[in-house]
Amino acid sequence: MQTVIHVQSLNKSFGGKQALFNLGLTVDAGEMVALIGPSGSGKSTLLRHLSGLACGDRGLSRSRRPATSDAGQAGAVHILNRCVQSSGRLDPDVRRLRASIGYIFQQFNLVGRMSVLNNVLMGRLGRLPRWRGTLGLFTAEDRELAMASLERVGLADRAWQRASTLSGGQQQRVAIARALTQQAELILADEPIASLDPESARKVMDILRDINETDGKTVVVTLHQVDYAARYCGRVIALKSGRIHFDGAVDALTGPFLNELYGGDLDASL
Ligand code: ADP
Ligand code: MG
Repeated sequence: MQTVIHVQSLNKSFGGKQALFNLGLTVDAGEMVALIGPSGSGKSTLLRHLSGLACGDRGLSRSRRPATSDAGQAGAVHILNRCVQSSGRLDPDVRRLRASIGYIFQQFNLVGRMSVLNNVLMGRLGRLPRWRGTLGLFTAEDRELAMASLERVGLADRAWQRASTLSGGQQQRVAIARALTQQAELILADEPIASLDPESARKVMDILRDINETDGKTVVVTLHQVDYAARYCGRVIALKSGRIHFDGAVDALTGPFLNELYGGDLDASL
């Protein structure tokens, strides 16, 4: 089994306040993993480290990249057999890796005034030679792939609409189509359904599961609603105060377990 994510002794602090403590975890190709835990437990911070977004350069030009080491972090992160971070030093060239990682945000991160199709085509940018990407010179194959991805999430008929005219659930499906068009090997989704009504949330989770089961893509998804973790993911990693509280099969999500994990946070319940 191919290892997609390998994290060793990951520590992260922000201005002296430690957010992640000595995390270690491995995720194999084809797994669908839920990352759960109370607000502030470190889920988003961990996910950013898995994506290379913690580097902070957001894929911009070399001259705009920050220093390649950060005193606030230590440990090693390997994604898709590429070293993102070792002994706290960040790999300065994560652009190629990022092209293989689809990142889904709670707030969708679409360009509202652009068409749905053009948003989905953005998924190709990391795959094009840089000069072609900068000029937006997509090929007929890029467009076919984008349309097929929209078809897959049930929004092909919306291709020419402005993204901002779509509902939240539809926008999230467009974001997933963008990751499909990117042909990402690993999908990281940070609270993808937190802003959605139950019906839209279910559609989004159904699509993520389909990508996992049909295409064999690895999916790591942070979820506030624990019932979705139980329904959709085989494995759950629970963070509490920046530490791994539990890592194992989803049947562990019993009432007493959740009480202990969430304490008084009544929002999160089965
Ligand atoms: P979660 O996603 O589980 O709610 P986060 O990863 O967002 O948790 O946050 C974990 C901890 O790190 C929190 O204490 C939060 O305040 C802190 N934190 C996260 N991002 C930053 C940042 N950019 N600057 C300072 N502190 C941060
Ligand atoms: Mg978060």
